[in-house]
Amino acid sequence: MRASLPSPPPAHQVIIIGSGPAGYTAAIYAARANLAPLVVASSVDAGGELMSTTDVENFPGFPDGIQGPDLMARMKEQAQRFGTEVLYDDVVALDISGPSKSVTLGSGVIHRAQAIVLATGSAHRKLGIESERRLAGRGVSYCATCDGFFFRDRVIAVIGGGDSAMEEAIFLTRFASKVYVVHRRDRLRASNIMQQRAASNEKIEFIWNSEVIDLLGEESMSGVRLRNTIDASTYELAVDGVFVAIGNVPRTHLVHGVIELTDVGTVRVEGRSSHTSVPGVFAAGDVVDPIYRQAVTAAASGTVAAMDVERYLAECGNADEGARRPATVSAVGLGA
Ligand code: NAP
Repeated sequence: MRASLPSPPPAHQVIIIGSGPAGYTAAIYAARANLAPLVVASSVDAGGELMSTTDVENFPGFPDGIQGPDLMARMKEQAQRFGTEVLYDDVVALDISGPSKSVTLGSGVIHRAQAIVLATGSAHRKLGIESERRLAGRGVSYCATCDGFFFRDRVIAVIGGGDSAMEEAIFLTRFASKVYVVHRRDRLRASNIMQQRAASNEKIEFIWNSEVIDLLGEESMSGVRLRNTIDASTYELAVDGVFVAIGNVPRTHLVHGVIELTDVGTVRVEGRSSHTSVPGVFAAGDVVDPIYRQAVTAAASGTVAAMDVERYLAECGNADEGARRPATVSAVGLGA
């Protein structure tokens, strides 16, 4: 008996890499434009940062709030309702040099598309200690606007010395009774204006030359253990929560060296559009945004990307036609 070869996956008009608010919103718009998008949603991190968030109280349309994972499930459902295909796999390589882009998945399958939307997001830089993982969502947070509300009249430590740390610390003083800013040096990296605002806030106290070596508590946080970076002495500080604000890392590893990035490492796009330096490649969400990084701004950016894709494909002369006919670009399956 002759073994039958697996049939190659079909080519697509657009492949969206990433399944956070930017990716799924791009998918909703692209699917409604009859572009039958494929979303590569990741094998372990599908849904993005919101999957590790509890109550989302600032996404419009949910006056009583919604759990992060529920919000992402709804976005996915809405995208699928209009014909989005979702694959739980990771992109391991991208070839975006020509008009036909190829996306290689962890499974070995290669998909091809005329347009790509990069919606790979960014990751909060982590402290990288074991207790940080144990207390995630139980006192450790990376987002003051998401979680600050839960720390009313509590004592909080913000880790970091950049603009994000100042912004988080200042925002948290609306809720907390006291906010320590723990920084590893004796000088802040933050802009002067942010430094001044933080320094003049009476609820904020700076702890200099100190790095976090442990977070204390099992079910909830009871404090942090710090080490002085000058004399190596260690001591404990009692806090109810820790906000880690030591920078974000845009996930651009797939396009390093082939697409233009900004000085802060995000994908460079033209003005308010999603056009990257490579024709047919668009970017949306946190991977282009070093400042706002909210679910709703990422979603809006996904809309922009889908509309840019639609125009790009129309200019290529095949947007409507391609959605109805089998793709003319060949695709190769390398096995599962
Ligand atoms: P950032 O400027 O890179 O600052 C990160 C801070 O975290 C630095 O103080 C750094 O210490 C510290 N840090 C890094 N790794 C650490 C570690 N492993 N342990 C302890 N501390 C660590 O990042 P950001 O504050 O997120 O800002 C990113 C960009 O967004 C910047 O361009 C910023 O100006 C901009 N931004 C602007 C605003 C605003 O204008 N309102 C608000 C937020 C962000 P060192 O100083 O010792 O390196």
